[in-house]
Amino acid sequence: MLTIEHSKSKYEQAKKHLAGGVASSLRASMKPMPLYAESAQGARLRDVDGNEYIDYLLGFGPLILGHANEELTNSILAAMRKGYTYGLQHDGEIELADLLVDILPCADRVALSGSGTEAVMLALRLARAHTGKHKIVRFTGHYHGWSDSIFTSFPGAGLSESVTSEEASSVVPPGTMGQSVNSLNDIILLPWNDPDVLESTLRSHASEIAAVISEPVMCNSGCIVPKPGYLELMRQLTEELGIVFILDEVITGFRLAQGGAHERFGIKPDLVTIGKAMGGGIAISAVAGKAELMKYIDTSAVSHLGTLNGNGVATAAALATIRELAKNNGSSYRRMEELLVSLSTGIRVLLHKHNIPGVVNQIGPVFHMMFINEHEVNDFDTFNKRDAGKYAKFAELMLSEGVLLRPNGLWYVSTAHEQADIDETLLAIDRVLGQLDE
Ligand code: PLP
Repeated sequence: MLTIEHSKSKYEQAKKHLAGGVASSLRASMKPMPLYAESAQGARLRDVDGNEYIDYLLGFGPLILGHANEELTNSILAAMRKGYTYGLQHDGEIELADLLVDILPCADRVALSGSGTEAVMLALRLARAHTGKHKIVRFTGHYHGWSDSIFTSFPGAGLSESVTSEEASSVVPPGTMGQSVNSLNDIILLPWNDPDVLESTLRSHASEIAAVISEPVMCNSGCIVPKPGYLELMRQLTEELGIVFILDEVITGFRLAQGGAHERFGIKPDLVTIGKAMGGGIAISAVAGKAELMKYIDTSAVSHLGTLNGNGVATAAALATIRELAKNNGSSYRRMEELLVSLSTGIRVLLHKHNIPGVVNQIGPVFHMMFINEHEVNDFDTFNKRDAGKYAKFAELMLSEGVLLRPNGLWYVSTAHEQADIDETLLAIDRVLGQLDE
């Protein structure tokens, strides 16, 4: 039985002056309630009641080196001792830009921002500036941050959850109350992984469409991989029709490979947005891409602003994280993938043992586990048939077993995880699956 008395009283205290009681709305969805962290090291996190967890939430994705990684911490501290942010330029920005251009296959140049949401805003702006067109094609089940101009159809984000692919072509519902009713007028919402719909829409609206934006893997809804040839078709059509192709690699950047999903899949988009893992847990993001698009920032024709953009602490964190990941020829990616293959395979065996229908979609160091009466989940409509309540219950029971999970089913692993953590986790899952339907 999980003791969370201290977390409970802190949550009550927080709710008094902190709106929502949490700093980002999604965190409130945790069951039985949002927990309070005391400290964390490597793959383990300790809460304020002294419970210790193997952590697969990993700060919602950024902690690719685990918690409080020694090299990363030292680099951040060294940078802080020299001043945090200058409002002047410094070597860290140049080094980071050079490194990103070196590593990311699609990058001629980069721009630095503070969050994935901001990187997406900039990428859309560059696309509109370059093409002189205004419409943006995006897909159901993808998430591109919470700015008004793109926030819709995100499972768990209220109104949009009930939208099916059929409805999506005619209705683009806001993701939240308070969003301007006009903010989504420029969005064309399509089902993902459907080559025919993509081709007919792009061909018939080419004169209005500035950009297609897509996650390379639908990590936010089921970790669904693109059908063979689908991203290639996206690339080919956008090129032919004068449309900017943006891959949103905020999750997959520095996670699926050093050069992100576009390196792994061998696709060259015009722009990519990266965040999360890039900073190892410190706020930083980037837009990277073709010189002919990035040039609009040179003259400030496209405004790119942000008080803390490229600050010394964030650039030091990104440099240290990327260099750690690059060590030994990127062998940490192979290790992380091996661990997650062993974990996801083990979960499939346990689901079978307990006769519980479920699917685990895994690619690289990220996977999605869901309880669902289907053999495969390859599109958003099928994903929406999962039993989200049952999974939330599972995640809650796993806490008592010392495993911290994201309540929606997405699991991350870090370089700090060991096979022993995976083995311990599988034993815990075995026990929890045994109690799930009680
Ligand atoms: N794009 C994708 C694919 C994401 O998953 C996220 C966040 O989860 C974002 C953009 C927004 O990033 P941030 O939360 O840093 O604003």
